Amino acid sequence: MRCLDLSLEKLDPGILEGAGLVALYVGMHTATRIAVQALPRIKQLAPKAHICVYGLYAPMNEELLRGLGVGTVLGGEVEPALLCLCRRLRTNGKPAIQSEPVISLGKVPFEVPDRSGLPKLSRYAHLVLPDGLTRVSGFAEGSRGCKHLCRHCPVVPVYQGKFRIVPAEVVMEDIRQQVREGASHISFGDPDFFNGPTHGMRLARALHEAFPEVTFDVTIKIQHLIDHAELLPELRRSGCLFITSAVEAVDDNILLLLDKSHTSRDFDRAVALTREAGIALAPTFVAFSPWTTLKGYIALLERLLELQLVESVPPVQLAIRLLVPAGSYLLQLPGFREKLMAFDSGLLGYPWVHADPRVDRLQRELQALVARSEKENLPRREVFAAIWRTAHEAAECPVPELAGHLGSPIPRLSEPWYCCAEPTEQQLQSF
Ligand code: SF4
Repeated sequence: MRCLDLSLEKLDPGILEGAGLVALYVGMHTATRIAVQALPRIKQLAPKAHICVYGLYAPMNEELLRGLGVGTVLGGEVEPALLCLCRRLRTNGKPAIQSEPVISLGKVPFEVPDRSGLPKLSRYAHLVLPDGLTRVSGFAEGSRGCKHLCRHCPVVPVYQGKFRIVPAEVVMEDIRQQVREGASHISFGDPDFFNGPTHGMRLARALHEAFPEVTFDVTIKIQHLIDHAELLPELRRSGCLFITSAVEAVDDNILLLLDKSHTSRDFDRAVALTREAGIALAPTFVAFSPWTTLKGYIALLERLLELQLVESVPPVQLAIRLLVPAGSYLLQLPGFREKLMAFDSGLLGYPWVHADPRVDRLQRELQALVARSEKENLPRREVFAAIWRTAHEAAECPVPELAGHLGSPIPRLSEPWYCCAEPTEQQLQSF
């Protein structure tokens, strides 16, 4: 078995030649875009191979993937189905019809991930500390899926409110192998580290006990930060540097439409609680949706200023446009489907146009501005000032001077996380 990471490595004809099975993992939107572009070349290089696409984004793009010649599409707890497919291929050759379920949510006997075929950890996103020092970061998963049903979330159509715990000893063994490879920070990829707070804290304690010098970051929703506030000081003492939280909006109507189970004021409360505990909060947003207004967008910027979070938000978060993938629970909102255009296989989603063309224009302008700023590696506060100016100009209002304390830089990963990311040019060059 050979492994290639197409976000970092080139398609290798030598590896694909004579392959009986090529399985592509699509855990994120970016990965799916890369897979869709790579598929024709893979089929050319491995004409006899059975093609399987698996991961969170596979089931919702099933129709498109089958049209591209994919024989097996798997999502959810995929390992048993993958094994079953390999065995069937060995015994019977190329199967005509998929016999494994497209979505499996059964309990998996988890094993320690085999990372031996992957590029070196140091080639992946690293931790950047406020003083500019960097640390090699590893990745671990303490759970998969989520018990919540936020309407815009890609986890929901597959896991439908369920989550699965990965045993602590398996997670710790995975962390151990990455620490041996040089990791001194672990980024937990659980959709929500506090879906099972007892399990989350068990992991935090075990990690700190085994490697007191290793730090980590997690993702926790606003509601859980408030409900389990008493756990935050211990999370900090165990080495948690920052918490990513999908705030998404500061407008209560939008939060209700997204079914986020938190209010705008809850966001303030979560900021205060994490600050009190000494953990940085890195909020993420869906800044542009069909319900965004120019006034509402400016209110979001004002709130970040008020909460001194300018340095805590990657600028790209302020330019993100709502992605509506196939199967999104947003499609269940009465009247929402009618606002969308036909499914776009290039975008892997349903495009939409805002009722106010000025909002779409602003989003495009900000997207370009953020891309330019990232190339020039501009500090977050400088990019925020440009966004602030552009938003006020779009609304034809005077541009107030940016006053007050903008907040201090926080620890972060070198690649900002956002699930509806476009692949970078470098990533697309692989094929
Ligand atoms: S947005 Fe977060 S809390 Fe909501 S369903 Fe997705 S993973 Fe769960």
